[in-house]
Amino acid sequence: MEAINRIHHISAIVGDPNENLRFFRDVLGLRLVKQTVNFDDPGVYHLYFANHNVTPGTVITFFPWTNDHYGRKGSGQVGRIAFRVPKGSLDYWKERLTAQSLQVEVTSLFGKDTLEFDDVHGLDLAIVEGETSSDHTDILGFHGSVLLSGNPEGTKELLTGFMGLKELDSNDENQHYETVGEEKHHIITSIPPQPAGRFGIGTVHHIAWSVPDMDVLKEWQTALRGVGFGVTVVKDRNYFNSIYMGEKGGVVFEFATDGPGFEVDEDMESLGTALKLPEQYEHKRQEYETLLPKLDI
Ligand code: ZN
Repeated sequence: MEAINRIHHISAIVGDPNENLRFFRDVLGLRLVKQTVNFDDPGVYHLYFANHNVTPGTVITFFPWTNDHYGRKGSGQVGRIAFRVPKGSLDYWKERLTAQSLQVEVTSLFGKDTLEFDDVHGLDLAIVEGETSSDHTDILGFHGSVLLSGNPEGTKELLTGFMGLKELDSNDENQHYETVGEEKHHIITSIPPQPAGRFGIGTVHHIAWSVPDMDVLKEWQTALRGVGFGVTVVKDRNYFNSIYMGEKGGVVFEFATDGPGFEVDEDMESLGTALKLPEQYEHKRQEYETLLPKLDI
């Protein structure tokens, strides 16, 4: 199989959708690019955010639960999600986050200065400087993420042996990898594994890896099944097609096609401004519009 070049998106479970919107749009400056519903549980929003240019590989999505069902972080989940900012802008970001009364800790988790902080619902986030400077300070996209693998050796075998990630430095606690595409997304697995996590508000549900098209997606499906992974059928997510599986450390991996993209049901300028439903749910639009909290767009 051809190596995986980059992250496609990361999806997390959060609380109130307007709190989620305010945090990721106003505090972090990301752009809401799609309002839709969870295709597997359509009474819940699925909100997509990306960088300003809606660059592929910068997408973070949320399932905002309004039921107060908090999760527990632990093994079998994606852990801290790191965003990349232009070189030289880390101090700016430290001030910006601190001005929002966020607790910001400076660590070296990603092998360089890392700002660690939580979102409004307890998600573990980070900001790391990239290698190139810019005339702005906006988030460029993902820097990478931590995988709370219950089986770091098994995860390593898949990441490096199968998906083509390169191993970087490792220490007693962390193994560090990067994807081979130009984004060079950093992936860290932690050793030793933590107690098992439970999905709910404040936890990450899955990480999706980018594959170019449907043919390659099916090749991945066949290849992963061939080495014993329980892989789902191909699911039509309207903006991309996906397969899902649990890797050996229990983390949910999705493989998703780059296309057709977010412009299938609204144009670039109006992305994220209206509730978009896939064909199978359009007849229930009125029901969802009544049920779902209005977003402060
Ligand atoms: Zn996904």
